[in-house]
Amino acid sequence: MSLNAVTAPLSFTHPIKATLSVAVFSLMLGLVGCNKAETPEQNANADAPAEQDAATDSTATTSDNDQVVTIYSSRNEQLIKPLLDKYTEETGVKVELVTDKTGPLMARLQAEGKNTPADMLLTVDAGNLWQAAQQGLLQPVASSVLETNVPAKYRDPKGQWTGLSLRARTIFYDPSKVNADQLSTYADLADPKWKGKLCLRTSNSVYNQSLVASMMEHLGEEKTEQVIRGWVANLATDVFSDDTSMLEAIAAGQCEVAVANSYYYGRIFDEKPNFPVKIFWANQDTTGTHVNISGAGVIANSDNPDGALKLMEWLSSDAAQGIYASSDKEYPVKEGVDESDLLRSWGEFKQDDISVQKFGALQTQAIQMMDKAGYK
Ligand code: FE
Repeated sequence: MSLNAVTAPLSFTHPIKATLSVAVFSLMLGLVGCNKAETPEQNANADAPAEQDAATDSTATTSDNDQVVTIYSSRNEQLIKPLLDKYTEETGVKVELVTDKTGPLMARLQAEGKNTPADMLLTVDAGNLWQAAQQGLLQPVASSVLETNVPAKYRDPKGQWTGLSLRARTIFYDPSKVNADQLSTYADLADPKWKGKLCLRTSNSVYNQSLVASMMEHLGEEKTEQVIRGWVANLATDVFSDDTSMLEAIAAGQCEVAVANSYYYGRIFDEKPNFPVKIFWANQDTTGTHVNISGAGVIANSDNPDGALKLMEWLSSDAAQGIYASSDKEYPVKEGVDESDLLRSWGEFKQDDISVQKFGALQTQAIQMMDKAGYK
């Protein structure tokens, strides 16, 4: 990430503000770097490679703020832009997109304070959204539309953020070496029968922090720590920095089982329709498969909170949900919206009923536990 790229948009209109922001922003970056939950690695893998390259700002300005919604987004611009263009076409409201990793976007919001041009934060993982709310970057909203469209377990109880799409973190396996009937739960991957056969992504990933948080809620601390120690003992190789290379490692015979997000698996099929790895829905006889969200919240210092909320409501509607979710091989958050053919081919599964805000509430404990159990 380039600091110039990040601060460039401000220099168009507010040179003094921009200079101040660089100083404060640099400070914030240092602070963020101290937090394991916000390490560069994790942010570098929070989404598709295209999502991290550069801060991409629109330079257009409009005097009427009500007609512009500015989004700070960690999502892949190529995926989200067509949908936002559709919103502009339908409503006349212009949407400006600032794309970067989640950590730097949050640091930038802190640094900009009341001067921020941002109206909405769009990012992945309830753990990240919870962090943003904790840092006072979001404001609570009351919306009967969001309450109708988004199940309560995928929203912040205080209304500071809402889920807009779903992703399952589940088990993947090599069908030439493993039968599906040998698989059951995340916890079972700690069994010695998987010794030297398991691949995992680093514990720096917020996705794993959220998964472990859910296990702490379901199994309790003692049992969860045992499971993590078992996982570490079963590793076939060093932890991976991203899900895609881990799935490729199964195909290459390096490991037999792994835990990854469903959309990374889906993306591989675009290029490799015969990819020799299978998906298994974890915990179907127990708590259900771990499901997380991508989502959004209205920025605390937004000068157009109504515009941001209207766009969030639109993104939760039937019309937008099918496109938003399927564009990145994710699941709609709104019930009754059809999935893509690819996702349908993976079969139905029982989702964990846990409220995703727990992933944030237990994040620090989850990080400490993984560290204690030797999970790198
Ligand atoms: Fe991701």
